[in-house]
Amino acid sequence: MTNNPPSIIAIDGPAASGKSTLGRRLADALGYLFFDTGVMYRAVTWLALQRGMDLRDEAAVTMLAETTQIDVLPASKPDGRACDVIVEGRDITWETRRPEVDANVSVVAAYPGVRHAMSEQQRRIGQRGKVVMVGRDIGTVVLPEADLKIYLDASAHERARRRHEENRSRGAASDYDEILSKVRERDYIDSTRDVAPLKVADDAVVIDSDKLSADEVFEQVRRLCE
Ligand code: C5P
Repeated sequence: MTNNPPSIIAIDGPAASGKSTLGRRLADALGYLFFDTGVMYRAVTWLALQRGMDLRDEAAVTMLAETTQIDVLPASKPDGRACDVIVEGRDITWETRRPEVDANVSVVAAYPGVRHAMSEQQRRIGQRGKVVMVGRDIGTVVLPEADLKIYLDASAHERARRRHEENRSRGAASDYDEILSKVRERDYIDSTRDVAPLKVADDAVVIDSDKLSADEVFEQVRRLCE
């Protein structure tokens, strides 16, 4: 790429808009750290479910987020993972992708105390630079000083279609209508919460990927890095 690409790159956008695919590829091309911040909210959600906690108990869930060490490390296995997610010494990378985590993570991520605990850790890592950080509030709240901000959008229909195809190509059972309704529900909670809602940063470049392939999106962002 170029001699001087932006050092801190923030990619935000709604669920299943292709942020991780783009972010991972960009980080590889630049030799940067790829950090998908959603895994931290997923890890807290998984742990709370695992412990049988009532997720509506904001105080208990917040305490859990504040006291649990979540390690996000470079991928240790070539099984399609973008990173390792380790909680209490256990590799929970694939557990964080389970449907029950998908269904509950937005509720947990809306708690201000949970967000505070997670975004402090994210900010510390991001400020070191040479990082592609992906999430909902990276360009607006976590790293407003980012050198390049991308907001990757796509219609709910298109995002649900892609998730559905992904599931089917893995041989997993998949129901398009159910995926669509869950995607919409997550969009609603993420964009209407009081703290750090999903929104476009004033200085973000918005890319609508509805009619673009993953390669075309990558190419656009690669040019923006030059
Ligand atoms: O990106 P991913 O789908 O893995 O994120 C899971 C959930 O975590 C999102 O739906 C959102 O509720 C929350 N999240 C967030 N802020 C971030 C990243 C994720 O609120 N920076």
